[in-house]
Amino acid sequence: MEIREDGDKTHMQKEEKKNCLICGSESYCQSDYSNIRIFYVCPTCGRYETGLNKFDRNKMGPYLFYNRFDGNDLEYRYHTTLEKELCDQYRKEFEEGNNTHGMPVHMDNEIIERWYPSSFSEKLDYIVRYTGEHTRHAGQRLVLSYQEVLSLLFVDREDETEHGQMIERNSDDCQDEIKFMLDCLQDSLLITYAYGRMMT
Ligand SMILES: [Zn+2]
Repeated sequence: MEIREDGDKTHMQKEEKKNCLICGSESYCQSDYSNIRIFYVCPTCGRYETGLNKFDRNKMGPYLFYNRFDGNDLEYRYHTTLEKELCDQYRKEFEEGNNTHGMPVHMDNEIIERWYPSSFSEKLDYIVRYTGEHTRHAGQRLVLSYQEVLSLLFVDREDETEHGQMIERNSDDCQDEIKFMLDCLQDSLLITYAYGRMMT
């Protein structure tokens, strides 16, 4: 597993295992305390970096999953909330042979909001396109983890209380929603599924 290297050794950095901020999966993470940024390599959300920006986990989870940069030796791209200008500068440096910051890909709430499907039928389109792109042949099985399924099916991880606080959703409710979404897809003859088997 490769973690982004930072050439500036004055930054206090520590590489450790931590739960992903978005989906809770066990991830590799590297903290940059001086810039208050954390870099994650999550099996569900891929390579991404966050700072102090506020974001919506319910939308960011699917966004990162659908646009995932996998943690492997050949991947230098990662999603980040760094300003776009800085991302452009780092990418230019990378192309010139300086790999201090890898290849950051800017994201912000507006970009995520614009990407996020605005209707139920649009969600179904995204899901069907994803499964088509990730199976080489029709009829092939796609095996996903529980967290991947939540992101794939746009199932919210958090709910807002009446006091405006965001709290983790009950997992039974999430499972009911997964089943509902999969039933819709199956009834539309778009996929067949084996619940449980899909979630290894
Ligand atoms: Zn994650």
